[in-house]
Amino acid sequence: MKARALVLEKVRELSLREIELPTQVGPDDVKIKIDTVGVCGSDVHYYTHGRIGHFVVEAPMVLGHEAAGVIVETGANVRNLKVGDRVCMEPGVPDLSSRASKLGLYNVDPAVVFWATPPVHGVLTPYVVHPAAFTYKLPDNVSFAEAAMVEPFAVGLQASAKAQIKPGDTAVVTGAGPIGVMTALAALASGCSSVIVSDLVDEKLAIAGRYPGVSIVNVKRERLADAVAAATDGWGVDVVFEASGSPRAYDGVQALIRPGGALVAIGMPVEPIKLDISSLSAKEIRIETVFRYANVFDRALAMIASGKVDLKPLISETFPFERSIEAFERAAEGRPNDVKLQIKM
Ligand SMILES: [Zn+2]
Repeated sequence: MKARALVLEKVRELSLREIELPTQVGPDDVKIKIDTVGVCGSDVHYYTHGRIGHFVVEAPMVLGHEAAGVIVETGANVRNLKVGDRVCMEPGVPDLSSRASKLGLYNVDPAVVFWATPPVHGVLTPYVVHPAAFTYKLPDNVSFAEAAMVEPFAVGLQASAKAQIKPGDTAVVTGAGPIGVMTALAALASGCSSVIVSDLVDEKLAIAGRYPGVSIVNVKRERLADAVAAATDGWGVDVVFEASGSPRAYDGVQALIRPGGALVAIGMPVEPIKLDISSLSAKEIRIETVFRYANVFDRALAMIASGKVDLKPLISETFPFERSIEAFERAAEGRPNDVKLQIKM
């Protein structure tokens, strides 16, 4: 069936128009009336560059993958959700019988189908069909706007899980973009006692620094290693989360981490980077990587509902669907005060 949607026609060309989209509700699916969609860095990157790595936009594609809405139809087998339930959706759907899925690593199943990753359409359209297994009911006190933040927050939570945070751990997050800030909040909610967030942009750091437990370092003016040494009596933090994707963030990173600590790579550098393995080995630093998330959406919702995490201050502005092209142009400007822009259907 044809539906109105925000369509990326090709690099730097968006349109709001009718497009053919799947509307068949299978026995294990639900149909969702979309309420709110967050604009993600990846959506913006497809708009400005037409590709991310080997994913290339070769045909018109609907954007958007950070979404919340209301169930309007359920398939015959669906038991966990009913019409009228408020929900948010995990945008990646694996093959549930794959080897990776059976291991609980469904995020790295090579067969994952992910919204707004070519050639799969995203959700900036009034209705979508999705498997009930990857659709999560919202607690009553979690708004649609907060629920549309669960997807990026889930990356931070996955990073915290990979870090194996222990009560009272200290951490550094390099990069104060949306994922960096959300990683700092996830680390604190997961048991960290304090987090140092570093970046080059004061406005971004100021937003992160408003949260209790977060201190900030502008690496243009101050050496991160000095700040870490001062905060930890020269011992180093338990975990460094790299959330900038900048190769420079890895220069001397081993000096920030305590012996036996962890380095968690979240940002995706465009090119291979240099790592001083000998120095990392001399401290037995554990290296972890993060690709999206698995089994954390329900935990993220519970953390938001309980008040342990407040993502509302990170929503910078909300645009109506009819102005979604404007929202993308604004996101592509990369204003330093903008954390998350959202679109309300
Ligand atoms: Zn996203």
